[in-house]
Amino acid sequence: MDTPFASMAPRIALPETYKTAILRGTMGKCPRCGEAKLFTKFLKADPCCPSCGQDWTRHQADDFPPYVSILITGHIMAPVIIELGSNDRLPMWAKLALGLVIASVLLMGLLQPAKGAIIALQWWIGMHGFSPAGRDEAARAAEGASPPR
Ligand SMILES: [Zn+2]
Repeated sequence: MDTPFASMAPRIALPETYKTAILRGTMGKCPRCGEAKLFTKFLKADPCCPSCGQDWTRHQADDFPPYVSILITGHIMAPVIIELGSNDRLPMWAKLALGLVIASVLLMGLLQPAKGAIIALQWWIGMHGFSPAGRDEAARAAEGASPPR
């Protein structure tokens, strides 16, 4: 974008590292600009960022977010289940109900942050047609060239 109006284009705060991009995605923000929301509904990524115009239809998070959510929930639930199992004051139905509620809340609560992080990582690496890759765009911006769009 070497037009005379390039300097008039709004500056986008591109992430400097993949960690920033993933953190933005985890927080439900656009990994590219960090301004607008990444999701329009629960687990539904906005097709186009209203702030920076990034096309998010190219992401293919598929079933990786549930895998990450289950992995983290399992690691949190293991000591909880051991503690509930060794507790003699609670009746069995209460232990079961408590375990199911905690696991369900963790699974559902981690699903969207995991999806945001995976979308951010795919954009950063340039997977599935994200072009230019986030890291390439950020590197060009760091060199002083204006980012496309
Ligand atoms: Zn954006």
